[in-house]
Amino acid sequence: MLTDKTMEKLRVLTESAKYDVSCSSSGTVRGGKKGMVGNTVGGVGICHTFADDGRCVSLLKIMLTNYCMYDCAYCVNRRSNDIKRATLSVSELEAITMEFYRRNYIEGLFLSSGVVRNPDYTMERLTAIVRDLRLVHRFNGYIHLKAIPGASQELLREAGLYADRMSVNIEIPREESLKMLAPEKDHRSVFLPMQLIHQGVLENKEDRRHYRHAPRFVPAGQSTQMIVGATQDSDREILTMSSLLYGQPSMRRVYYSGYVSVNTFDSRLPVLKQPPLVRENRLYQADWLLRFYHFKVEEIVDDANPNLDLEVDPKLAWALRHPEVFPVDINTADYEMLLRVPGLGTKSAWLIVNSRRFNRLTSFDLKKMGVVMKKAKYFITCHELASEFGQQVAGINELRPERLRPLLVSKAEQKLAAAESQLSFDFEP
Ligand code: SF4
Repeated sequence: MLTDKTMEKLRVLTESAKYDVSCSSSGTVRGGKKGMVGNTVGGVGICHTFADDGRCVSLLKIMLTNYCMYDCAYCVNRRSNDIKRATLSVSELEAITMEFYRRNYIEGLFLSSGVVRNPDYTMERLTAIVRDLRLVHRFNGYIHLKAIPGASQELLREAGLYADRMSVNIEIPREESLKMLAPEKDHRSVFLPMQLIHQGVLENKEDRRHYRHAPRFVPAGQSTQMIVGATQDSDREILTMSSLLYGQPSMRRVYYSGYVSVNTFDSRLPVLKQPPLVRENRLYQADWLLRFYHFKVEEIVDDANPNLDLEVDPKLAWALRHPEVFPVDINTADYEMLLRVPGLGTKSAWLIVNSRRFNRLTSFDLKKMGVVMKKAKYFITCHELASEFGQQVAGINELRPERLRPLLVSKAEQKLAAAESQLSFDFEP
């Protein structure tokens, strides 16, 4: 039974944890086990919920404490902020998790913490919680644990045996910007635990090849988060960092969090009326291109365009910059080229490659496969596409990109993009 005092702490600590977005689905499967409590449902891992501002949050997203010895400018829990503080004891947090789990409120735990006394002291408590949940309470749900930068290798190794996923947030892509906003941090203190987790995952893979029952280490890999719009770092810098991180197979997701203006009095930070959500969305789309569409960072953003186009998605922006590669013939182009066509996803590209072995494809077939013809028709040729309602469909080269662009951008998108580009001028000189 939770007391009023514990409930009050819970309110404070869940509120403090809501700005961390690196918490969505794990992708691990924990089947029900005899003697254990719960499971994660087939490959989905954890239920999601959305905070008031539209962000995805896991169901019990909580901090052990929101006291912190650091003073990161972008953080609501920074040392110098005058906010309501609370700390749960190890046993209180375990009791809350189990109670919520039994009541079916949650399917997992996303646990982070401010740093108190020193990184090891905090990490020791976090490790004790995940260890007890698994070994004492037989908790078999999903656990995502934030690693504390600067904590010892032994503690990180132990925590990794009980957590499904671990993450360390980079927060800011350029070291100089990070130093400006969080003088007590540097990239080394973030990359070191990331490297340790990565090493642990690789070794565990090897161990499990020899001993099938060797305990799993961070089976859902690691993730990280970057704050967007708190510094003048460009999308190119952000995506270059993401691409480097994805070079490590254990890095499953990089999350982008539009900066929420929580410390408006700090002159190092921009005064934003609202988080840059369109930019955040474009970064997720670009991230998708890096991971699944075989794009390279320099194809999405370059010296001439270091920031993503807010009006159009990054794939369409690339296509408008490269009319020379279009039209693409749906019946002959390879998979890689199909992926570059706006309106075609990985699934439809795969379906096209497989179906055209038996038949020449028509625009009717493409629609059935889920291709967004409204966009794709300007970039492709295929059997029967040449005439739509008896008229020739003009492609990107006949129309030219500058005339095609307004046809593909709605008034609402233009308005949103225009409103958001104003935000970037709000930096103090
Ligand atoms: S270390 Fe974490 S909790 Fe502490 S101020 Fe920095 S971002 Fe906030």
